[in-house]
Amino acid sequence: MIMTVQNSQEAIDLENKYGAHNYHPLPVVLARGEGVHVWDVEGKKYYDFLSAYSAVNQGHCHPRIVNALKEQAETLTLTSRAFYNDSLGTYEKYMSEYFGFDKILPMNTGAEAVETAIKLCRKWAYEKKGIPENEAKIIVCENNFHGRTTTIISFSNDPDARKNFGPYTPGFIKIPHNDLNALAEALKQENVAGFLVEPIQGEAGVFVPEDGYLTKAASLCREADALFIADEVQTGIARTGELLACDYENVKPDILILGKAVSGGVYPVSCVLANDNIMEVIKPGQHGSTFGGNPLAAKVAMAALEVVKDEKLAENARRLGEIFRERMNIFIEKTDLVTLVRGKGLLNAIVINDTEDSSTAWDICMSLRENGLLAKPTHGNIIRFAPPLVMTEEQLHDCCDIIEKTILNFSA
Ligand code: PLP
Repeated sequence: MIMTVQNSQEAIDLENKYGAHNYHPLPVVLARGEGVHVWDVEGKKYYDFLSAYSAVNQGHCHPRIVNALKEQAETLTLTSRAFYNDSLGTYEKYMSEYFGFDKILPMNTGAEAVETAIKLCRKWAYEKKGIPENEAKIIVCENNFHGRTTTIISFSNDPDARKNFGPYTPGFIKIPHNDLNALAEALKQENVAGFLVEPIQGEAGVFVPEDGYLTKAASLCREADALFIADEVQTGIARTGELLACDYENVKPDILILGKAVSGGVYPVSCVLANDNIMEVIKPGQHGSTFGGNPLAAKVAMAALEVVKDEKLAENARRLGEIFRERMNIFIEKTDLVTLVRGKGLLNAIVINDTEDSSTAWDICMSLRENGLLAKPTHGNIIRFAPPLVMTEEQLHDCCDIIEKTILNFSA
């Protein structure tokens, strides 16, 4: 028999006993979501200020997306790619046109899409650029976060992500983020195939590079005949106030990586997009996934992206983001506890005036929870604020009131 949990503590105890301890969640057990709100098992209502790490940009349980899921779930869910299905082609056309690329390669999770981009870049390097086999190098940034697979953690510099998971995949050069000189130098090395970058480093603590960084980085890559690969898994789909963070600088990546909010958080959907000269290096049998491009994913993603456009989520994120940072910038003058607010659109963070290993940011998140708002520290002293993009201005002001009151009480 499948049991139903009676209260939050029971749910937490079950996870502790039967689940691997690979996460350290805030102690709140969510049972329902709608728009910008979630409710716990006891019925307490919260503003969601994390949006499942920017997967729920369209808000929880958006009716249009859920209906697309329901309809397709009753029709056809999975065929594998052993056969054609009547949704995939439509989806591929939709995605290619929506993002302006010749082709898409559909996957499921963000990390899988990053792996796909790495494979695509390497194969392009051997077959088109003429790099000797097994010599290709990809430039990445320090403090990156691209997921959790063995290859991806090989070029992470987070000790928790790496320690005791070696031996690591070779072929990566690490440079500081937002450092064009370092990029120019690294591109001079032999056999460089590409540069993989988050336009804004989200997990690292919402680090926004200088204006012009992406444009210049893309042009340095072009000069060096190396692919510019943008990981917009977290920054994409209107989160930063444009459809893509790269759109702020009119930069078109050679390979674009998307995940998370492509499906509005309803179903795992990710992909890479590229033009034919790159995508054509992948032939049958060389890459794939049983679930990648399944009919359910296709229908859910198209509905989710229609919502982004029809509800003008990028515009809303940009406008509300400005209001949020303006209010926070005024507020931080009144407290010693917060030193800085930074971000773009509705991807923001505040920096707490304490050491990285202090528990202050965690404790503030616990107080925010008490006051009806859910957020999570990214690193010891940084709290990310990323609500669903369907938020209204009135709700945003309500949230700012909660944040300000909580931090003032906390300092007192
Ligand atoms: N890339 C970026 C920039 C991310 O922020 C994340 C997740 O936070 C990933 C990749 C990995 O996505 P997933 O957790 O779906 O594998």
